[in-house]
Amino acid sequence: MKYVLVTGGVVSGLGKGVTASSIGVVLKACGLRVTSIKIVCRYGLITFLFINMLTETKIYPYLNTDAGTMSPFEHGEVDLDLGNYERFLDVTLTRDNNITTGKIYQSVLEKERRGDYLGKTVQVVPHITDAIKNWIEAVAVIPVDGKEGPADVCVIELGGTVGDIESMPFIEALRQLSFSVGQDNFCLVHVSLIPVLGVVGEQKTKPTQHSVRELRALGLTPHLLACRSAQPLLETTKEKLSQFCHVPVGNILNIHDVPNIWHVPLLLRSQNAHHSILKQLNLLAPATPPALQ
Ligand code: ADP
Repeated sequence: MKYVLVTGGVVSGLGKGVTASSIGVVLKACGLRVTSIKIVCRYGLITFLFINMLTETKIYPYLNTDAGTMSPFEHGEVDLDLGNYERFLDVTLTRDNNITTGKIYQSVLEKERRGDYLGKTVQVVPHITDAIKNWIEAVAVIPVDGKEGPADVCVIELGGTVGDIESMPFIEALRQLSFSVGQDNFCLVHVSLIPVLGVVGEQKTKPTQHSVRELRALGLTPHLLACRSAQPLLETTKEKLSQFCHVPVGNILNIHDVPNIWHVPLLLRSQNAHHSILKQLNLLAPATPPALQ
């Protein structure tokens, strides 16, 4: 199984979900079978009580076990991203494709109550991190496109912003996963923001530099940067990002604001995102994805 991990830096609501689903679309257009997982990491005490309720496919570091107990006033349309995956990829995801902090803790606590840990001290590392890794590896091989057998690539979206306390166990589990599956099977796309300061009128790279540094400090190295900006990135901005974030210019993608999110896969295709991702995953790239011509 090949994994594409999508993380986010600087601010929330950057478009990680749209980017991750669009990456799935371009990979699918290259003839690959794609599945996805979403991680939801944020905590919510009251909703923790509803831990036995249903869930979906996305990694969020929330303690909520599913979006059903999350307020749309606080989170926007909470199921939207899962819908995005299903609509963009034409797949039917299972509730286990959505991983939350609540589900992970619930599974570990149930094992502890059953005595499965044989009296050992149960800790975030390794028990929670192992549960996250095992969950991802088990869900990644579930067929979601109506065909038999596992998909070729699993796109994982890690909710939240790198550096959040809530997402730390997930980052650590994903770091371990990247090491165990090997570098040919793991591609990290970091979605970040390139703001423009009104007075200076210049595209600023510093917030992205800092978030990449934070990611590296946690043991994860981005292979591609997906830069969100209001206007297309200038070549000088890309060069600066490349130099300070240690990512080749060809792997710096620009996802500027578009009138309709369905344009995002085309934006990725036009920048040969598929080439960069397939190269990192040691897969052969077609000249142009036939389905996106
Ligand atoms: P995140 O997963 O980072 O919270 P989402 O993928 O849910 O972000 O996107 C947040 C909002 O931004 C959504 O309303 C989405 O439609 C919008 N959006 C994402 N990417 C773009 C883009 N390139 N241009 C315009 N709007 C976008």
